[in-house]
Amino acid sequence: MGTFESAATRILAPLSELLRKPLYLVDGRSSEAGNAFAIRLPVPRVAIISAEGTRFTEEERRLVQEVFDVLRVAEESESRYAELEQRMLALQRENLDLVVKNRALSEVSSRDSLTGLYNRWYVIEKIDTELNRALRHGSPMSLLMLDIDHFKRINDTWGHAAGDEVLKSVGKLLRDSCRVYDVPGRYGGEEFCIVLPETRMGNTAAVAERIRQRFETTQLPCGDGESVVITASIGIAGMDEPESNEILSPAALIDRADRALYSAKSRGRNRIETWDRSRMKCADTVSH
Ligand code: GH3
Ligand code: MG
Ligand code: MG
Repeated sequence: MGTFESAATRILAPLSELLRKPLYLVDGRSSEAGNAFAIRLPVPRVAIISAEGTRFTEEERRLVQEVFDVLRVAEESESRYAELEQRMLALQRENLDLVVKNRALSEVSSRDSLTGLYNRWYVIEKIDTELNRALRHGSPMSLLMLDIDHFKRINDTWGHAAGDEVLKSVGKLLRDSCRVYDVPGRYGGEEFCIVLPETRMGNTAAVAERIRQRFETTQLPCGDGESVVITASIGIAGMDEPESNEILSPAALIDRADRALYSAKSRGRNRIETWDRSRMKCADTVSH
């Protein structure tokens, strides 16, 4: 029985009381529905019959038809509602598919294809997010910039493909040196970086020292069964106690880490330097 028929059955008793006639439903296509004692209803399969065989007055017919019109509208809106619900579910499924596809796409576009680390664009976005979070919560954050020492010599000695193989190993070494919430990236060429949320510069220096030592003591394959040991210079910058009157842009933070890195290079390489306002000139903060 459809919803209309069951609604019609339910309305039959009160209607019959109102008209003071026993009423019953028949199939609207039956011969009974065609006689003078029946009222055809707005759906083909239902007619209402006067059980006593008394005719319906015009007024009664109109009333019954009005009641059933209302019922039909109610039923139609119910089926429209079900249809809408189906459509909503389908949309939700499509949306879910899109979310999954988008996630896969952004994962591909955020990675560096050689090392599998995050790429420069993703890292810059991440620095922006973490800087904002640090400012909002007054929590620290750091950025570590690393450049391979004399990498040109690797290419010159072993060839570019060997250089690529070394860079792949550097990627793995950095990944293995990070905590899950740190973000290691390839900033460009043989320059790498790690974004360290919730980390003071002092603690980042300890992480950097571990990485520096790992380079010194690790043989990295560079083709034809050969291996090589390389060193790295590291610059660190960050916000230990972010102050609300100091707004640092990602570019400004990267510039600070770069200055520290440059200082490590000029002080002999294979070492770590932390950005220091008094030693490394900068005009990158905005006060308000
Ligand atoms: P420094 O200690 O001053 O950093 O010396 P360096 O030789 O590492 O620095 P420089 O910037 O002079 O050279 C970087 C080299 O890295 C030159 C470039 O050819 C090489 N390089 C950059 N990207 C890639 C890459 O994707 N693959 C390979 N094989 N080499 C790369
Ligand atoms: Mg270099
Ligand atoms: Mg370089």
